[in-house]
Amino acid sequence: MPQFLATDDVDFESRFAALLRAKREDSPDVDDVVADIIADVRARGDAAVIELTAKFDKLDLKPDRLRFSQAEIAAECAKVSNEDRAALEMAAARIRAYHARQLPDDAMWTDETGAELGWRWTPVSAAGLYVPGGLASYPSSVLMNAIPAKVAGVSRLAIVVPTPEGVTNPLVLLAAQIAGVDEIYRIGGAQAIAALAYGTQTIAPVDKITGPGNAFVAAAKRRVFGKVGIDMIAGPSEILVIADKDNDPDWIALDLLSQAEHDESAQSLLITDDADFGRAVTAAVDERLETLERRHIAGPSWRDFGAVITVENMAQAVALSDRIAPEHLEICTADAETLAQQIHHAGAIFIGGWTPEAIGDYIGGPNHVLPTARSARFSSGLSVMDFIKRTTLSRMTPAALATIGPAAERLAQSESLQAHGLSVRARLDRLNMGDI
Ligand code: NAD
Repeated sequence: MPQFLATDDVDFESRFAALLRAKREDSPDVDDVVADIIADVRARGDAAVIELTAKFDKLDLKPDRLRFSQAEIAAECAKVSNEDRAALEMAAARIRAYHARQLPDDAMWTDETGAELGWRWTPVSAAGLYVPGGLASYPSSVLMNAIPAKVAGVSRLAIVVPTPEGVTNPLVLLAAQIAGVDEIYRIGGAQAIAALAYGTQTIAPVDKITGPGNAFVAAAKRRVFGKVGIDMIAGPSEILVIADKDNDPDWIALDLLSQAEHDESAQSLLITDDADFGRAVTAAVDERLETLERRHIAGPSWRDFGAVITVENMAQAVALSDRIAPEHLEICTADAETLAQQIHHAGAIFIGGWTPEAIGDYIGGPNHVLPTARSARFSSGLSVMDFIKRTTLSRMTPAALATIGPAAERLAQSESLQAHGLSVRARLDRLNMGDI
């Protein structure tokens, strides 16, 4: 049974706080193993990657087989049905069009002293994308990671994807091809992250690594951060649905289950202002769970981490939602638009009953890599911004330096950084001599 809470319960605050605090993820301590793997790859390169791939993925490779050849990619892609290909292409086009709007403008202006100031955006040169193999291999995640990188102008994009016992998902390769990925390597785990970060004889290092993975991958990403950039360490998925009674309970039940079926640690929450509607939704969830293929995952997730919260009004719903800061927020109320405008903290908002969250997972256009575990309070989902960086620009004229230089000299002296001050003073002296 999921938890039932109501804001007018005497113990509501303590139970809601416990819900927010609940630790859903077992994070096995794999850091020592991962440190050894990274050190091994740094020391021995391809040889270490090949040995570890044989050990963990039961796949024997030679250096020239680490990378998928064009012929192999073409052969795998040919296995994909026309319908699947068309769906992937539509998704790619929509994701590309959405992300193209995220590209920010450069700026340059002249201030009142005559100084020219501004900034310029440039892409990272090479990005590496981790695609989980093993349990979950998602072509949609390939599009969501690779397309923003391409839109940003990243010139080299490499994918690593483990292929346990040589088994490949053709849709993953096709998604990579559609997204314009340049290189695909059949390796995974911490060894693949190390290879991307430090390079090997056959894999050139990248500057940024993105993409989800298991505990070994997450620990490796944490360890290589600094040498390369990383996107985030994603936790189990979450959805919060705010719904009034004028909804089909079955639709809302399916929306809750669409996150629950990801992972036993996923969390699906419903906030409603009608207790009867809340009960109707839970009954619909139970009914759907009888036949859902992934009920062995969705059932435990709903039972252990699901909750239905009854509020007195939708203003309370907004306030609670901001405290939860959900990864996905679905608003199915008469005034969904108004409520959406009042929300401050959510990774992605889906407005109105015709916008199931699954649309955002695949085809809507926005990115599905989103902040989890309440990190939407301070961070955003993956975007073009993750693959570009800003360089600031300054150009002084003699007059501008004469105006603002003395203050710089003064501040340098206060910090006892003599050369700093002198570098300004030397120029100011030349100006004072009237040479310029
Ligand atoms: P994975 O590709 O993340 O991990 C497989 C690799 O783990 C293997 O290649 C191996 O190198 C390494 N490994 C396994 N056992 C090891 C051991 N004992 N020691 C050292 N290395 C070991 O695939 P997975 O395991 O199926 O995990 C996929 C993860 O990605 C899941 O946790 C899933 O929830 C997550 N995921 C998240 C999203 C998202 O968008 N948030 C999407 C897809 C998958």
